Amino acid sequence: GAADYECEMVVLGGGPGGYSAAFRSADLGMKTIVVERFSKLGGVCLNVGCIPSKALLHNAAVIDEVKHLAANGIKFGEPEVDIDALRGFKEKVIGKLTTGLAGMAKARKVEFVRGIGRFIDPHHLEVQITTGEGKEVTGETKIIKFQKAIIAAGSSVFKLPFVPNDPRVVDSTGALELKSVPKRMLILGGGIIGLEMGTVYSTLGARLDVVEMLDGLMQGADRDLVKVWEKWNAHRFDNIMLKTKTVALEAKEDGIWATFEGENAPKEPQCYDLVLHATGRVPNGGKVGAENAGVIVTDRGFIPVDKQMRTNVPHIFAIGDLVGQPMLAHKAVHEAHVAAENAADHKAFFDARVIPGVAYTDPEVAWVGVTEDEAKKNGINYGKGVFPWAASGRAIANGRDEGFTKLIFDQDTKQIIGGAIVGPHAGDMIGEICLAIEMGCDAVDIGKTIHPHPTMGESIGMAAEVFKGVCT
Ligand code: FAD
Repeated sequence: GAADYECEMVVLGGGPGGYSAAFRSADLGMKTIVVERFSKLGGVCLNVGCIPSKALLHNAAVIDEVKHLAANGIKFGEPEVDIDALRGFKEKVIGKLTTGLAGMAKARKVEFVRGIGRFIDPHHLEVQITTGEGKEVTGETKIIKFQKAIIAAGSSVFKLPFVPNDPRVVDSTGALELKSVPKRMLILGGGIIGLEMGTVYSTLGARLDVVEMLDGLMQGADRDLVKVWEKWNAHRFDNIMLKTKTVALEAKEDGIWATFEGENAPKEPQCYDLVLHATGRVPNGGKVGAENAGVIVTDRGFIPVDKQMRTNVPHIFAIGDLVGQPMLAHKAVHEAHVAAENAADHKAFFDARVIPGVAYTDPEVAWVGVTEDEAKKNGINYGKGVFPWAASGRAIANGRDEGFTKLIFDQDTKQIIGGAIVGPHAGDMIGEICLAIEMGCDAVDIGKTIHPHPTMGESIGMAAEVFKGVCT
């Protein structure tokens, strides 16, 4: 039959990848439709990811900061937490941003089709229309005929097979709902998402255990950075179980009982009021009927693309979490622009040299490019400049001098190839190192750049000076 909608560009998924792709496509003159099963644009990032987690982490960081002031002679009482109001604040933050997105879509005449999309052939998408806050189907279906498509359906939580269906066992989305604050909380998986949520719950009063199969928390970051984080956060944890697996979770009346196996496993099962499973995310590439359009999907659900974000089918592009690691919003946005520009017959390539990673914990841990542990492992001829914040006037004045800034240089060219920071606001600071790497800066460029004094940002210039041997 005839299609209900016709367009030059259909974008499947309304997350940071999808809405960025739709906006750029429209800006480049294409008649654009975005298909999203939920009522609002924003995807995981805005609704149940980056933004709500940071809204809660900000409040937690302020509470923690205030406690430190006692050492400076300023004492506050115990915080009184109105959890409903806190949840309300988080919802308000999300609302502001999603309303903004809706306005931006409207201004560009991007049409929003609300439903679950599925390719039926290389030029048609079928949409099961949804309603309400979630993704309840109405029974109605619509057909969209498109010339080009961008697949941006994101990723979902990976659920271990033995995870019981119980309100006391949550994934990151459930944890962000902040229903109550448990006494004892178990975090399955010592990655960024688990540790960020753990930080929030611990500041609000929970005692934490964390279990991680590998030999360290926060994989990907250099161990010297993680050590600083661990020392600062030791007070939150009863038990950090590395090289240990959770093998069973049993829901009982008095709590969720977890059984562990491995090097640091307690012999007896442990009882928790809340279990957060944060053991990774899986791509949604296999769930959108891509094969009906001839698009190759890997066994794991990723959609392979080239540097122009094209799938094996030239008029269909894919971006974001479902094209590969790292599953990060800023990567999705960049890929989105590349895909939309190529679809509009411009020539664009995803050629970022580096993609930064940040744990928004307290202190923050941020890194970009070659890490020192990686450089060692791969036998790269590197040199480093490290500036301890214990020598930073500003960090000392802030009462937060536990961190450091580290730059990694190619020993032959003296060009910067990586950098890492641990300390408050490390995530905001790492951008300068990203730019330096993209620009091909060497140690002299960075060291001779005048940074404002007194700031933690100075530590980046100082670290370059340390590498040059000027400031030791
Ligand atoms: P998504 O955001 O997953 O969006 C995909 C959208 O497609 C969803 O809205 C989904 O409903 C929709 N969809 C899927 N299938 C269909 C279909 N068949 N039909 C219609 N619609 C469909 N990243 C960072 O960079 N910084 C952070 O601080 C950060 N914090 C995070 C915290 C948490 C708790 C989590 C879970 C993730 C976090 N991330 C963070 C990761 C970030 O959220 C993702 O990398 C990002 O959202 C990926 O964007 P995307 O557009 O690829 O997909």
